[in-house]
Amino acid sequence: MQDHIDRVLIDRHTIAARVREMAEQIAADFRAAEGGCDPVHITIVPILTGSLIFLADLIRHLPLMMQIKLVTVSSYPGKSTSSQGVELQGQLPEDLTGHHILIVDDILDSGRTIKFVTDLIAARGPASVRSCMLLRKQIPSAINTHADYIGFEVPDEFVVGYGLDYDGFYRNLPEVVVLKKEVFA
Ligand code: 5GP
Ligand code: MG
Repeated sequence: MQDHIDRVLIDRHTIAARVREMAEQIAADFRAAEGGCDPVHITIVPILTGSLIFLADLIRHLPLMMQIKLVTVSSYPGKSTSSQGVELQGQLPEDLTGHHILIVDDILDSGRTIKFVTDLIAARGPASVRSCMLLRKQIPSAINTHADYIGFEVPDEFVVGYGLDYDGFYRNLPEVVVLKKEVFA
């Protein structure tokens, strides 16, 4: 697997430091929104499968009362490296009335996934909805899509690792990397 890597974009130490920083910011913002009251109860909605590793690291730095409601969305099935349209797999909780929601996803690209999930959640009566993405591609569609928290900007390339896959593989790489061209051949 290591010999499939063309180059490392973000190493594990840089990711760890930034994830901790993001969690501190998120916790401070949720507390401030509640007028400084503690504990604040929040509902995390991770978009699976790509957000899995990010989610696990992020929430361990979030000292808030939280519930987790998983949602699975697929837009890059199999060997695709461009979006094939957003599809919801499984069910989103019907009633989110009064919940303070934090959507967590791996990467902001076309913006379709986050818009799709945000709209679904907004229709279920939450008190507030925020979104948190580990990565954002430096392309207009991503930059022009609203997100409350962004970990890192990445170039417009297909990246894997730290939860992100190609054809289901490479999620366990601890870094965010670009694969060699021949892997896609
Ligand atoms: P969007 O809907 O913003 O186009 O894309 C978001 C989803 O597409 C992400 O949650 C992720 O699953 C997938 N995606 C977008 N860009 C990449 C990429 O560079 N690498 C991988 N592995 N997945 C990506
Ligand atoms: Mg995803």
